[in-house]
Amino acid sequence: MNYIRNMTQSNSRGTRIAHVGIAVHAIAELLPFYRDVLGLPEAPLDDSDGARIRGLTAGESLVELLEPEKADSPIGKFLDKRGPGIHHICFTVDDLDRTLDRCRAAGITLIDQEPRIGAEGKRIAFLHPKSTGGVLVELSEY
Ligand code: ZN
Repeated sequence: MNYIRNMTQSNSRGTRIAHVGIAVHAIAELLPFYRDVLGLPEAPLDDSDGARIRGLTAGESLVELLEPEKADSPIGKFLDKRGPGIHHICFTVDDLDRTLDRCRAAGITLIDQEPRIGAEGKRIAFLHPKSTGGVLVELSEY
C-alpha cells in the first residue's frame, strides 16, 4: 500500500471526481430536480454508447443523467437489472497508463485493458465493480 500511496502523491494535479453517471428511465423526470431545485447549470454533452446524456455542472464535477436509447444498450441493461441510480463514478487522473499499471499491480480487474477514447475525446478506461466495492469506476485522463 505504501507503493500505491507514494505513486498517488506524485500526481501533479491529483485525482478528482470528473463526473457521476446516474442511470434514469427518463431525463425529463429528473432534470427539474438537478437543474431547477439544486440549481446546477446544464453542460452540453454528446450522447454515447446508446445513451442520451444530459450534463449538469456541480463545481469542478459533472452530474451526468444517462437515459437509454434502446433497451439492449449498457444503460438499458443496467436499469433492467438494478433500476435507476448511480451507474458509475469517473475520476480524472494525470496519467492513465500509470494508473492502470497500479490497478493491475493491486489486483484490480480492468474492463478496458488499454485506454480507449471516450465521449469527450479523452482517454478513458473502466474498472470492474467486483474489485471496487460494487462501484463501476471510470478513469479519464486530463
Ligand atoms: Zn462516464
